[in-house]
Amino acid sequence: MYDVIIIGAGVSGCAVARELARLELKTAVLEAAPDVCEGTSKANSGIVHGGYDAKPGTLKAKLNVEGSRRMEALSRELGFPYKKNGSLVLCFDEKDTGRLEALKRNGETNGVEGLRILGRQELLGLEPQVGDKAYAALYAPSGAIVCPFGLTIALAENACVHGVEAVSSDRRVTVCACVEEGWLKLTVEDNGGGMSPEKLRELKAMLSGEAEAGKSVGLWNVYRRLLLYYQDDFRFDIDSVSGEGTVCSIQIPAKHAEA
Ligand SMILES: Cc1cc2nc3c(=O)[nH]c(=O)nc-3n(C[C@H](O)[C@H](O)[C@H](O)COP(=O)(O)OP(=O)(O)OC[C@H]3O[C@@H](n4cnc5c(N)ncnc54)[C@H](O)[C@@H]3O)c2cc1C
Repeated sequence: MYDVIIIGAGVSGCAVARELARLELKTAVLEAAPDVCEGTSKANSGIVHGGYDAKPGTLKAKLNVEGSRRMEALSRELGFPYKKNGSLVLCFDEKDTGRLEALKRNGETNGVEGLRILGRQELLGLEPQVGDKAYAALYAPSGAIVCPFGLTIALAENACVHGVEAVSSDRRVTVCACVEEGWLKLTVEDNGGGMSPEKLRELKAMLSGEAEAGKSVGLWNVYRRLLLYYQDDFRFDIDSVSGEGTVCSIQIPAKHAEA
């Protein structure tokens, strides 16, 4: 029994796994593909964005700038390829320089440091291979590149060294959400080891308040949070067959989901 199951070993899942590895939790990562970094994370451009184009005030803007600042130290700690070569956004016409200025202001609002508009001569000094039509550029010295595989694999390895389990073989977690007859119904189903009838009885007793939380802290936390938010206005059920898997269903009135 795990406290936390992370679905997907892309860069997000592996980074979350590494963070959770610091805590006293039993955590596992499930991945449908044969290895980590087999989804979108394997097919990106490897750019560590400076943070100038994220909408100011959003979580994305905050995390983008903070992530960009922390990536170099992380690369040294985990040993993946990283190069702070800066990034350039080009414009090809004088009339478009206003858009570069707007992007620069956006970045400054987000806290990106060192942003500058470069004219063609300065741009050529920085990047001699730039095309004939390039007129000006926004230069972000904090922009960088990483090896997307190196980063994701390093995060996964570090998480495993600190106790996160990689679950091999054909393990799947299916998550379904729908609104039916006024209820938001969520079902989480896995094809893992399941639990014994005894363990299931213990869990149900804990959820009905007849027994202590014991080791099933993760499930207990989910139940307590539901109680906190919805008082008695929810349904929670769990069923499991040893060797076949577990189904957990949560229902809350759809009026809460719309709020
Ligand atoms: C062309 C392109 C270029 C990009 N360039 C950049 C860039 O330069 N810089 C940048 O920061 N971002 C870039 N991005 C965005 C970035 O790649 C993604 O934001 C990031 O990879 C998302 O990571 P993830 O872990 O959330 O998803 P993924 O890497 O897709 O990982 C999800 C994993 O979950 C697994 N999975 C899904 N469902 C299940 C299930 N039910 N059970 C078990 N496993 C499951 C999948 O197999 C997959 O491995 C780019 C994206 C694209 C498409």
